[in-house]
Order: sequence, then C-alpha cells, then structure tokens
Amino acid sequence: MIVIGVPAEDQDEPRIGLTPETVRKLVKAGAKVKIRAGAGLRSHFADAAYQEAGAEIAGSDKDAVAGADIVLTVRRPSPEIVNNMKSGAAVIGMLDPFSDAEGLAALAKSGVALFAMELMPRISRAQSMDVLSSQSNLAGYKAVVDAAAAFERALPMMMTAAGTVPAARVFVMGVGVAGLQAIATARRLGAIITATDVRPAVKEQVASLGAKFIAVEDEEFKQAETSGGYAKEMSDAYKKKQAELVAEHVKNQDIVITTALIPGRPAPKLISKAMIESMRPGSIIVDLAVERGGNAELAKPGEIVTHNGVRIMGKLNLPGLVPVNASSLYARNLQAFVEPLIDKEKKTLAVNWDDELVKGTLIAKDGAIVNAMIAERLGGAKGAPAPAANGAPKSAPKKRQAKGAKS
Ligand code: NAD
Repeated sequence: MIVIGVPAEDQDEPRIGLTPETVRKLVKAGAKVKIRAGAGLRSHFADAAYQEAGAEIAGSDKDAVAGADIVLTVRRPSPEIVNNMKSGAAVIGMLDPFSDAEGLAALAKSGVALFAMELMPRISRAQSMDVLSSQSNLAGYKAVVDAAAAFERALPMMMTAAGTVPAARVFVMGVGVAGLQAIATARRLGAIITATDVRPAVKEQVASLGAKFIAVEDEEFKQAETSGGYAKEMSDAYKKKQAELVAEHVKNQDIVITTALIPGRPAPKLISKAMIESMRPGSIIVDLAVERGGNAELAKPGEIVTHNGVRIMGKLNLPGLVPVNASSLYARNLQAFVEPLIDKEKKTLAVNWDDELVKGTLIAKDGAIVNAMIAERLGGAKGAPAPAANGAPKSAPKKRQAKGAKS
C-alpha cells in the first residue's frame, strides 16, 4: 500500500500541506496517510479531525516519514527529515528551487525524488495544482487588509452629519494574481483604485474590477508579455517613462501595493526614495516583491520601515498569515498532483516520468539534481530543460517564503 507522510513544518511556517478533507480523498484513492501529531494545529486542523478522516497520527517527524512513499511539505524539509525517508521516495512541496542550490543538492544526495510545486507548468490541466496562484491570491488580499488596518484613516467615503470622510486612494502596481485580488479587496473596502502593469492584457481586467488602468502604452508595452503570459524586463527608455508617470501619480496615493515580478530576474524597482518622499505622511506601501529585492527602494524583508512618515511594509509569508485558507488551498493543489501518481488498483506509487507536469516540477532524482537551472547554479552539467516558470534571482534570500509570497 502506498504511504503518504506529513512531518510538522518549522516554527515560522503556520501552513500545512494536508487537511482532513484531502486525507479523505487520498485514503479513498488507496493511500495510507500519516501525519505528525499537532502538525495542523496552527491552521486549526486538530489531530482528531485527521484521525476521523482516516489518517494515522505519528509521534515524531521520523515516524511520520519513515517508510513513506510520498512526503508532503509546505517548505523545503530539513536534511534530518529527508535522511529518515526511504531512498526513491518523493518529497513534494514548495522547495524554493532557485535559492540555496547547495542545500538542494545535499537533499538530493539522499536519493529521494524532489518535486518543487512552484515549477508547475501553467497549463489548463494543471490549474488545480497551481500553488503560485492559490497562495498569491491570498497574499494580495492580506496585503490590502494589513494596509487598511495600519492606515490611520478610513478607506470608504463616508457622508456624515459632521462632514464627509474622503475615500482613500489605492494604487496597485503589477496586476498578476496577487494584484487582481488586491484590487478586488480594496474595491470591497470602498477605496478609489488605480493600477498599472506592463502587460496590455491586464488593462481590461483592471477595468472589469472597477479600477482605472494607468501605464505608458507605447510600442514596447504592446510587446511586453511573453508567450508564457509573464512580463519581460523593460528597456531603460521605457523604465524612465514609467518612472515619470509613477512619480506624478504616486504622490497623491494613500496606499500603494506593489507585486511586480519578472521570471528569473530581480523584482523591478518601481518606487524610488524620492517618490516615497513625495507621498503624504501616513501613507503606506506594501511591497509583496520584497523577497525578490523589492519594488520599493526602502523596503526591507520582514520589516516595516518608516521614512518621512510613510510606512513601507515588507512582511514575509503573507499567505502564512491566512493559514487556514492557505493550507486548505495548498493541500488541494497537492492532492490534485499526487492522486495521478498513485496506481489505484495496485495501490503503489506509479509516477509517469514522461508527464509534462512531472518533468516540470521534478528537480532531483536518483541522487542528482535534474533541473537545468539549478544544475547551472551549482556550476555542474545541464540536466533537464529549464522550466518556463518563475525563477528567483541568484541573490534571493536563502530562507524561502511563499510567493506572494510569490516568487
Ligand atoms: P508575476 O507574479 O510573475 O508578476 C506580477 C505582475 O507584475 C505581472 O502581472 C507582471 O506583468 C507585472 N510586472 C512585471 N514587471 C512590471 C513592471 N516593470 N511594471 C509593472 N508591472 C510589472 O505574475 P503572476 O501573478 O504569476 O501572473 C503571470 C501570468 O500568469 C499572468 O498572465 C496570469 O494571467 C498567468 N496565470 C496563468 C495561470 C494558468 O494558466 N494556470 C494561472 C495563474 C496565472
């Protein structure tokens, strides 16, 4: 019988990759599921609920993963966990594939197969497995809610007998999954919203959410989207025009949410120190790109920097601050990926190594790194073709946070 094990996550990760709901589905698909006692508690999933769904509770991480064919994690597991797994078993999680390549190589040596969910190809068949989307959506929501909570004024316009409270102005920079949810959330809270991006396809989406689109819409803008749907790095001339537009716009904004990313590159710098200095005291910038270098000049990972009365929030792991939903969605992403790896009749692990989703996410197998980009960072031979997913810059911080955590 196929065994799925789930160890506890580290102190700083409240999410978990298994919920009672997904236990039921995996057990029905023929798996035996073991989860470390208390591992779901920070997402409010009690051991009793896992047991009721058909899981076994393990007394230690070692017990949870020993003998397992598949180990499900949120973050990259420790070497101790991997060393307690049987050779040839699979680890499936958000393994932060483009940072600390040496650490990955060390895990690979144990002989386990490593699958990085961040590298899931963004094709329609894999939509239910898209962890970047499921987690970024929550990050976009949480960014706005956090900004609203810290903002010392109201967001909606209020007409009262004592006078009118003006609506706050929210500017969303980068309208991918996180940005779209940030717009929707700010709109529900009654703010006046503007948004910008370099991809023309976004213009209509922004309008449909009731926000105003502003951008430098020149010839380069018309070509800025790659075939994969991502943004290209813009030319210096475009950046200059964009900076002029943003400088003029940002000084009248109360809250700025930045989410702009370019695959495999550091986050584009969109808000300079001078722009921050032009904003009114009390304004807030939430920089969701902070883990990839940040879109705002003064942003620091994990910190709230105050400059001239403007707060620049660089919170990490925003999906982890909504852990109940983040875990539920992430666990469904994992279950959708794992179920086809199980031979339901024989109840064994039956990975189709030629499948596009398996090839896209597999980064190590049989003791070696097989992902070309990681192999290149290690200075070694090339393995599999480079994935067409978001890659982090070489300078990315070693400690991973969820995208949107997006990487
Ligand atoms: P992302 O996290 O890579 O980037 C966030 C946004 O920043 C993007 O919209 C990007 O265009 C924008 N950006 C980059 N450079 C910028 C700059 N200099 N100025 C302003 N904005 C800039 O994006 P994402 O959320 O991962 O979405 C990327 C694409 O993937 C989108 O086209 C989205 O619709 C698509 N997508 C597809 C699927 C699927 O098919 N399964 C799922 C989710 C998203």
